[in-house]
Amino acid sequence: MISQSCGLLHAAHEDDRVFGMDDYQGPVARWCSGCGDHSVLAASQRLLSERQLAPESTVFVSGIGCSSRFPHYMKTYGFHGIHGRALTIATGVKLTRPDLDVFVVMGDGDCISIGAGHWVHAVRYNVNMVALLLDNEIYGLTKKQTSPTTPQGYGTNTQPRGSYLPAMNPLEATLGITNASFVAQTAEWIPAHLFATLKAAYDHEGFAFVRILQRCPHFTADLFEAAVKQPDLVEILEGPGGIRVESLDGIYDNKVEHDPSDLGGARALAQDSEVVRVGLFFKDESRPRYDETRSLSKHSAREKIEILDRELERYAV
Ligand code: SF4
Repeated sequence: MISQSCGLLHAAHEDDRVFGMDDYQGPVARWCSGCGDHSVLAASQRLLSERQLAPESTVFVSGIGCSSRFPHYMKTYGFHGIHGRALTIATGVKLTRPDLDVFVVMGDGDCISIGAGHWVHAVRYNVNMVALLLDNEIYGLTKKQTSPTTPQGYGTNTQPRGSYLPAMNPLEATLGITNASFVAQTAEWIPAHLFATLKAAYDHEGFAFVRILQRCPHFTADLFEAAVKQPDLVEILEGPGGIRVESLDGIYDNKVEHDPSDLGGARALAQDSEVVRVGLFFKDESRPRYDETRSLSKHSAREKIEILDRELERYAV
């Protein structure tokens, strides 16, 4: 059965089971108390319940880092991969089993540093999946090392006098990659916005890249403190086709009108700013997807193997 609300490429289960959040909950997460990872985990489980995704048809893939323990805490299929390679594994899963819903969970070091090459090409390949960048602007698992998104001048255990280089801007960079089709930013301390953003990302047909600003109270408690305490420091992107969260009205009233089909406008808004901008920066479902080239083939997987075997036989000596 195909889910009508979620488009042709998202599978829904065929039976009459009804899944609550607890159907997706694995063991108790071992992250620090107050870690933003908990919020993303809860929002993901809520999304799966809202969209009634069968646990056996859902896969969470991660790399290495605190947030990469994510698949252990989901009662779905999961793959705790190797550092920087979550996107390659996830791409393989999705190309081989397009019927599965694939989510990728990466930290900033994982995606933006060692995995940077894969990140660039995963965006360009535009395979239908949801990629979550849990960006706490530090390597937490390795005890407060500078990551590519650590603010310049911020003291860490590897650069105690302050990070030497300007921080990378993952939004600006992603919006600069050829064939990007969905780029959004949200914050784990605004659960309603986080949930709405995950829903929009899941419903997108293509590679949905979501940067989630995330607190690491253990090592960088001060990084997002001002934005958490002062809603005016958060600016919400709104407009037709964007992400609208009515329950935030009256709390987060600093808003900017933005059309998510406007790539130039998105790039301007993605630049470093005094305010934290959250919302849908860019979306274009007309962009070609690499996984569509697979669906053009009229052969089954077994037939493909037989064809390949015949070709290889031609070169037998
Ligand atoms: Fe979370 Fe930071 Fe603790 Fe890692 S070190 S689990 S990122 S709070």
